[in-house]
Amino acid sequence: MIFRQFLHASPIAASYLFGCGGQSQCVVVDPVDEIKPYLQASHETGMRIVYVIDTHVHADHVSGGRALARAVGAPYLVHESVGGPEHSRLRDAQEMTVGNVTLRVLHTPGHTPEHVCLLVTDRTRTRAMVRAHWTHADGRGHGADGARDERGGWRPCLVRQRDTAPAAPRFR
Ligand SMILES: [Zn+2]
Repeated sequence: MIFRQFLHASPIAASYLFGCGGQSQCVVVDPVDEIKPYLQASHETGMRIVYVIDTHVHADHVSGGRALARAVGAPYLVHESVGGPEHSRLRDAQEMTVGNVTLRVLHTPGHTPEHVCLLVTDRTRTRAMVRAHWTHADGRGHGADGARDERGGWRPCLVRQRDTAPAAPRFR
């Protein structure tokens, strides 16, 4: 899996581009309003953006999701409770395939009522959880204040795992 994290200072947010290098497909999660960095990362990694997903839509950052989806001709997806067109609706337990990567939608209201996490499985390697603003392997995260979670800590993020993963990808 190829994984890029984008950190944004104003307002503070994080967004992600990740996917299957072998089959040249990726998704973008929680893009902010400036879409150029995602287009550039897509170009650099040779992966076409096939889905654009917002984990939630409240106003702590300005989403570039719709604009990015339009620019690349990919579906824009958000939890069904937001409403919107049928083809934009994510449902709990829904699974999506992005090359060798599988995304499973978990409706996790809390940060906001419509919030979803994405359980990301690289069928050739590893698994991670992507949720609003943070991502850590095995779904562990930290709170808004950066404190450790109630389970006593977090594991290295996927970026670090990727560095230690076998160099040769498997192709299906
Ligand atoms: Zn938020």
